[in-house]
Amino acid sequence: MAPSTWLVVGASRGIGLEFVRQLLEQGNQVIAAVRSPEAANQVWQLSAQQTRPAACLIEQCDVTDEASIDAFVDRMRAVVGKGMKIDNIVLNAGVLKYPNRATEISFSDFALHLHTNTIGPIIVAQKLLNISTADPPSKIIFISSDSGSTADFRDHEDGFGAYGASKAALNQMLRHMAAELKRKGGKWQDVCILAMHPGEVQTDMANINVDWEVEGVIKPEESVKKMLKVIAEKDKTHSGTFWRWDGREHPW
Ligand code: NDP
Repeated sequence: MAPSTWLVVGASRGIGLEFVRQLLEQGNQVIAAVRSPEAANQVWQLSAQQTRPAACLIEQCDVTDEASIDAFVDRMRAVVGKGMKIDNIVLNAGVLKYPNRATEISFSDFALHLHTNTIGPIIVAQKLLNISTADPPSKIIFISSDSGSTADFRDHEDGFGAYGASKAALNQMLRHMAAELKRKGGKWQDVCILAMHPGEVQTDMANINVDWEVEGVIKPEESVKKMLKVIAEKDKTHSGTFWRWDGREHPW
């Protein structure tokens, strides 16, 4: 893909940070949105290493906090108003509080998964679409999970109830978003909305002791490199589809 402007939401560590690193390496401009800028040391380091002006901008956005989302979207509106186009958006922020069994989970922990993994990413995407009506982004990528697949129900994943449900709900909402944009026509039908499973990736989130064999664990470098290839290959005709990091289509 030719260098362009990417927005990565949930960029402080893990897969999100690796998206920022590889996108900068490829010569893109990156807006890295993090929940706590004061704690996002690795993104500040990446930003400081850049020699191109404004290559890596750092913004605050907590996807569970509507006031934070609104303030962030207002700042993005100002940026877009000055003529910058946000070409691609990666909604990566996510939480897994393990275990999260249907038979045990508290109201607040269930809500935390839904707020972070479903409602936050969808509302951020919706509000960003609404500030760029003249020139919408080309691609909006939601980092989902195989745990959210209802067709490929992962009944060995004991302890992943609320997490899986939150990603399944994310999947359903992003499919509706894709269908609604197609129905709206005009420039909206050119937006490509994708769900991606990043693989089983060595990050803080995956650093839990589960009682089944987790196969094929990969590093963030490999996951993001392969996801960027998949993303580059997709266009508006693929909007509303679900892909694995290795290029295979994922069942919903
Ligand atoms: P990490 O736990 O390493 O990172 C999670 C990221 O999400 C951090 O940057 C974190 O920021 C951010 N985040 C969490 N809550 C919020 C919030 N309220 N607002 C803004 N940002 C927030 O996880 P991974 O890198 O592994 O996960 C990235 C995505 O990939 C997630 O959506 C996850 O569900 C998905 N995924 C991961 C898999 C894996 O094997 N690792 C497998 C399948 C899917 P902070 O530093 O502030 O906490």
